[in-house]
Amino acid sequence: AKQDGRNLCVMYQPSNDEGNDSRFLFKSQFESALTKRQFILEYQPRIELDTGEISSLEALVRWNHPVKGIVGPIEFISLAEETGFIVPLGEWVLREACMQNKRWLQQGLPPVRVAVNVSAKQFCHSSFLYRVKEILEESRLDPTYLEIEITESALMKDEKHILHTLKVFKDMGIYVSIDDFGTGYSSLNYLKHFTVDALKIDRSFIKDLPRDKVLPKMILSLARKLKLQVIAEGVENYAQHTFLLNNGCHQAQGFLYSKPLPASVVERLLNKSWGC
Ligand code: C2E
Ligand code: CA
Ligand code: CA
Ligand code: CA
Repeated sequence: AKQDGRNLCVMYQPSNDEGNDSRFLFKSQFESALTKRQFILEYQPRIELDTGEISSLEALVRWNHPVKGIVGPIEFISLAEETGFIVPLGEWVLREACMQNKRWLQQGLPPVRVAVNVSAKQFCHSSFLYRVKEILEESRLDPTYLEIEITESALMKDEKHILHTLKVFKDMGIYVSIDDFGTGYSSLNYLKHFTVDALKIDRSFIKDLPRDKVLPKMILSLARKLKLQVIAEGVENYAQHTFLLNNGCHQAQGFLYSKPLPASVVERLLNKSWGC
């Protein structure tokens, strides 16, 4: 009975309501947050496993909320997808990342690719391709310094439209990777049809390396056969790093190397890596 009492207590905790409140609050504040420039990007370095050098950065959005402080994307991205706000937000992220990378190039820093997360809804939006072209022109960033990360769910929608978009990206030289690979759909058939550059092994598969290596090994061998690159995410220790290095993984990112950093810190980091 005591046990029951405790469970009951848990049920009456206000956390659920609070969650709904903040969803409601966020929804009503999305548009003004964009015009008030409350969104910021952090960049997580990715290293080439064979050389250790930083070759790309993943742009990750945060909301600098006037009351709640820094709010992570987990708390608002799915809501932004539901409401359609992800389209203007995603466009802002893309523009900001391209302009920032162009500034770094103009400062003479060693060139890196910047990877932008694009949600399925944004990717499948009729104006997406046009927007990407427009933003690249506006920022004057060479398309080979842009990477687009899409999840498997984006590739499952309207096949013809997606095939066309990916083909245009390929011709432009934009790098495309499949994010959270292996967590979405069980059919791998789409990989034969779509022109992508890399698979990102999800953190959930990296977590238990090297003890549990079945899925990472499978993804690495699949990628080798399809001539795709592999990027590991969520690398936190040397045992994982060593496994990935020894098994032909190309790039890695995770707290072992660096957490996501503000642009000013990335700048110093790139500057330093130039020196050695
Ligand atoms: P993701 O694309 O899988 O991004 C990786 C997440 O893992 C990031 O969380 C990053 O901070 C975190 N991470 C990196 N290294 C490690 C590690 O070694 N250990 C652990 N435990 N975590 C690590 P974050 O920044 O909170 O982003 C969460 C998710 O929000 C992203 O997952 C992505 O799906 C989404 N997201 C972030 N920015 C954007 C965006 O601009 N647009 C869209 N559509 N989604 C975004
Ligand atoms: Ca990602
Ligand atoms: Ca990911
Ligand atoms: Ca992930």
